[in-house]
Amino acid sequence: MALSHSLGFPRIGRDRELKKALEAYWKGELDEAGLQAVGRRLRAAHWQVQKDAGIDLLPVGDFAWYDHVLTHSLTFGVIPERFRPKSGQPTLDTLFAMARGVSANKSSQGACCGSAHAQEMTKWFDTNYHYLVPEFSADQQFQLSWEQLFEEVAEAHSLGHRVKPVIIGPLTYLWLGKTKGAAFDRLDLLERLLPVYGEILQRLATQGVEWVQIDEPILALDLPQDWKNAFERGYNILQREPGKKLIATYFGGLEDNLGLAASLPVDGLHIDLVRAPEQFPTILDRLPAYKVLSLGVVDGRNIWRTDLQRTLAILQQAQERLGERLWVAPSCSLLHSPVDLEREDQLGDELKSWLAFAVQKCKEVALLTTALNAPHNANVQAALTQSEAIQASRTQSPRIHKPAVQARLAAITAADSQRQSAFAQRIEQQRARLQLPVFPTTTIGSFPQTAAIRLARQSFKAGKLSLADYTEAMHNEIRHAVEVQENLGLDVLVHGEAERNDMVEYFAEQLDGYAFTRFGWVQSYGSRCVKPAVIVGDLSRPQAMTVEWIRYAQGLSRKVLKGMLTGPVTMLMWSFPRDDISREQQARQLALAIRDEVLDLEAAGIKIIQIDEAAFREGLPLRQAQWQGYLNWASEAFGLCAAGVRDETQIHTHMCYSEFNDVIESIAAMDADVITIETSRSDMQLLQAFEAFDYPNDIGPGVYDIHSPRVPDTAEMVKLLRKAAQRIPVERLWVNPDCGLKTRAWSETEAALINMVAAARQLRTELA
Ligand code: GLN
Ligand code: ZN
Repeated sequence: MALSHSLGFPRIGRDRELKKALEAYWKGELDEAGLQAVGRRLRAAHWQVQKDAGIDLLPVGDFAWYDHVLTHSLTFGVIPERFRPKSGQPTLDTLFAMARGVSANKSSQGACCGSAHAQEMTKWFDTNYHYLVPEFSADQQFQLSWEQLFEEVAEAHSLGHRVKPVIIGPLTYLWLGKTKGAAFDRLDLLERLLPVYGEILQRLATQGVEWVQIDEPILALDLPQDWKNAFERGYNILQREPGKKLIATYFGGLEDNLGLAASLPVDGLHIDLVRAPEQFPTILDRLPAYKVLSLGVVDGRNIWRTDLQRTLAILQQAQERLGERLWVAPSCSLLHSPVDLEREDQLGDELKSWLAFAVQKCKEVALLTTALNAPHNANVQAALTQSEAIQASRTQSPRIHKPAVQARLAAITAADSQRQSAFAQRIEQQRARLQLPVFPTTTIGSFPQTAAIRLARQSFKAGKLSLADYTEAMHNEIRHAVEVQENLGLDVLVHGEAERNDMVEYFAEQLDGYAFTRFGWVQSYGSRCVKPAVIVGDLSRPQAMTVEWIRYAQGLSRKVLKGMLTGPVTMLMWSFPRDDISREQQARQLALAIRDEVLDLEAAGIKIIQIDEAAFREGLPLRQAQWQGYLNWASEAFGLCAAGVRDETQIHTHMCYSEFNDVIESIAAMDADVITIETSRSDMQLLQAFEAFDYPNDIGPGVYDIHSPRVPDTAEMVKLLRKAAQRIPVERLWVNPDCGLKTRAWSETEAALINMVAAARQLRTELA
């Protein structure tokens, strides 16, 4: 009999119960017992819903109070000195302190451990989930320090469930961490870490656990040889420990690690056939005859229904070879998918029939398993017929396939993503037209999103505020923002983005081809969730999206006003994409829609247009061999939306991070006239990338960090600008904060910008 299992379920809850409970606990409105009760209820509900869906083996260990990597750090006792509790025993507050930091006044109330900055957070592979980076010291010791996993196993057993604990494997755990203090190789910690894994496996065996899932997603990455060797070494040691072990890989194909993964001395292997279907036939040949093979065939990262017929055909092929040794699963943990489609009451039947969230994905896995075990089962036949009809409706629906968009796409030529003239010529014309001083000052687009703005937007959406009243409220905000900027003496003004809820959703709502869920929340980090828009069909822009707001703002000032748009790659990266056409094709469609907006802004007399590509670097594939392909289409998509303008129109772009080394050439290929970037947090270090590579166009390295309420003084910004001026010719330098100001208060914003303008003026006299 084939077996169905789940690699992990979303922990946040169908109504984001965990988010609400956490935030109440942090505010002191819920006590620890209350929080624990919410956790228990959620776990019980999630096991039950998976079991009811028909999953045979349920995951334990997928629940986390903040982040599962952080839970592992506590489990192994990887608690940085600054958080270590005096009593020795970490508590829930230790965990939250590691996640969120502790401010001095909180610690004086005896909360935990003195003031301490939070652990660093970074993206979990190529998802939008963020984990807390483990911190290792050279003398790092590991000891079992946290009972959560064992308690949850006991909890599940007491509810009568058959479970499979999920832990992050030792190599992936070490890979995810960072060394602190004296330099050393974190791989050297493996031998010290393994005994704790041994202890965990022994404890689980005593609890009566049969299978343990050990996640080693780094097997889908390019691994250095010493890490590959360490896999063999590590698992040779772990094989002596009790319990059956399933190594889980996901987010990509095993490729050159396939032989290694297949031959590790464990009892089973899970592979991701959604991301990497091509590894299927090879793995059947390479897998030792004693091992279980778990096939991840239901997409754990997107929201589309599985094509059951097509998937079943693959599974049947596997079943012929594997018989009892075949397991069926989602491609990865369902952590990355929204919880329950049934909650959606406003999607319409057709669209809803195309979608599956975590609960529905479990049902698909169970159904496919039943189809293998009992092919003549009546439910199976009905589901297969229904699935066929759904796939057919998707391939034919005019809601998805739009001849006009496709014709336009087919007519694109390489010239469409190239500006008319080279930068050297364009910039001359732009300088003559814009008449800006050297070290021109500007901002990144947004000004404070005040409570009043949000309230006006909500009232408008709820129908409580008329369009006229809403427009007037936004006009007042724009007028205020323009006035402030004029008083500050900024050179290039913005309208302030008051009308935008979010830099992607705002545009998605105005494009044809997008859909929106009401409850499609996915955890981003801790209690923070995002609700990505869904790209359903071919995309187009029925009418101008931003022109009226920006024209209004320009009408208020004689200074140059910069129009603000979000770029195609960022739109794509922060949405649920289609699975029936490539990311590249979707980026092109988005680019064409934005191109129309760019041209409308130009026609409305806007002389500078900024196209934000905040997620450009995020789109990099996990495997280096695929980087260039991505970078080519990503920078081409930017070109496509930007290059329709006249030479004299200045195109800006903005990216808010500071690791440019890998992508700098492609950023140059985007050929924006001006790029504004984050630098201030790394003290202009990023300019190293710009030093090694001669970036040809104008740059605005952020001179202060908007992520903190601290008001920087003029002298420190002057210092940063002098540093920048050593590497970048002064006539190509801009002066700006490192990101948008929407999260800041007006008072901080004005104070910081006064100092920034003063810094630019000082540099003008000094260096110009
Ligand atoms: N223009 C946007 C803003 O200022 C850019 C945001 C971002 O880069 N994340 O808010
Ligand atoms: Zn930014």
